[in-house]
Amino acid sequence: MSYLIHLKCRECGRTYPAEPLAACEECWAPLEAVYGYDSIWAEVPRSALASRPKTMWRYRELLPLEGEPRDGLATGFTPLVPAPRLAEALGAREIYLKNDSVNHPTLSFKDRVVAVALGKAREFGFDTVGCSSTGNLANAVAAQAAAGGFKSFIFVPADLEPEKIVGTLVYGATLVRVEGNYDLVNRLCSEIAQKHSWGIVNVNLRSYYSEGSKTLGFEVAEQLGWRLPQNVVIPMAGGSLITKVAKAFGELQKLGWVEPAKTRFFGAQATGCSPITTAAKNGNPEITPQKPATIAKSLAIGNPADGYYAVKTILGSGGAGEDVSDAEIVEGIRLLANTEGIFTETAGGVTVAVARKLIRQGLLNPDETTVLAITGNGLKTIGAVSQELAAEAAIRPMLADFEERYLAAAGAA
Ligand SMILES: *Cc1c(COP(=O)(O)O)cnc(C)c1O
Ligand SMILES: [Zn+2]
Repeated sequence: MSYLIHLKCRECGRTYPAEPLAACEECWAPLEAVYGYDSIWAEVPRSALASRPKTMWRYRELLPLEGEPRDGLATGFTPLVPAPRLAEALGAREIYLKNDSVNHPTLSFKDRVVAVALGKAREFGFDTVGCSSTGNLANAVAAQAAAGGFKSFIFVPADLEPEKIVGTLVYGATLVRVEGNYDLVNRLCSEIAQKHSWGIVNVNLRSYYSEGSKTLGFEVAEQLGWRLPQNVVIPMAGGSLITKVAKAFGELQKLGWVEPAKTRFFGAQATGCSPITTAAKNGNPEITPQKPATIAKSLAIGNPADGYYAVKTILGSGGAGEDVSDAEIVEGIRLLANTEGIFTETAGGVTVAVARKLIRQGLLNPDETTVLAITGNGLKTIGAVSQELAAEAAIRPMLADFEERYLAAAGAA
């Protein structure tokens, strides 16, 4: 069933058989999955998808599994919703939200990458899986490992949000909190992957894991009626998602499933961890690592593995990178909730606030169609907004008490 041919180094072009490999042995660059596009083109018409279940697996010919998928069978095909009230607030004509804050089963886009990674872990015969994570990946690996019968070891920075800790432990995963930021956790994980024969989804399974991100792009195109948007705004941590949405749009054009079109890619980060947007603003893809200090912990990767390629994607598309302060992130979360009734986590606040900033700067054309990637759920980062949203003291169960409160509120308005 698989159309995967091999893995190919993004730098030197050396090819490798489809095995669990972390990076090119010669130049340490990431490895990319390469498919037989001519065969897919000849054998799989776009119309074949129409009768398939509405999950990410409807695009299975463009994913790297050999056999039938067994993990994440309900993952993906999240809503693409028009956002007219947000558009009005931002002075834009047409905005859509790709709402992965309701992705199955753990409410973030990371369920997509984990579904693919665990499928490959199964094919490679690993009984134990793991990851280094800024939170959402931890939740997704723990949940899908539990459902798939894998043991799991999850490594996270010690200061992770309590919701993401509980949302990992509840699935019975072994959670290891590490003193240090994500980049140190990730380095430890690479050493562990060499010592133990485990499938670490973002180390030795990374080239498969990252392919799962493409499905967000496939879905956006299909949900727009097999059309590519003029602009996308995508939050960046390691920088993989944005490059893989670009790969997805490229594959759809190669297969003739969409008309050729140019999409501008806008990358969003928090100013407190902005190695990719800083490089994009400098017009140079070389990344200078940073020490993260932001409430957007899910994006807090100071030395992003795919940062170089993310900048190239952004600059090559005619887009831009932009970052926003923690205060703006909170404003972004509240603006999205107030206008569209969607409660996103800090990463979604970054996306909304960056879109607003780009429109104000004239870098994002408000007369064009723009898709914002809302990648995680607000219930996982309650602490980011709980101080500003503290409830008032309770009233007695008496009409007079309510009327007093009502008049005070009306007076304040
Ligand atoms: C991981 C993550 C991202 C960014 O993913 P990368 O592929 O590492 O750039 C965006 N949003 C959320 C909520 C995430 O958890
Ligand atoms: Zn190489």
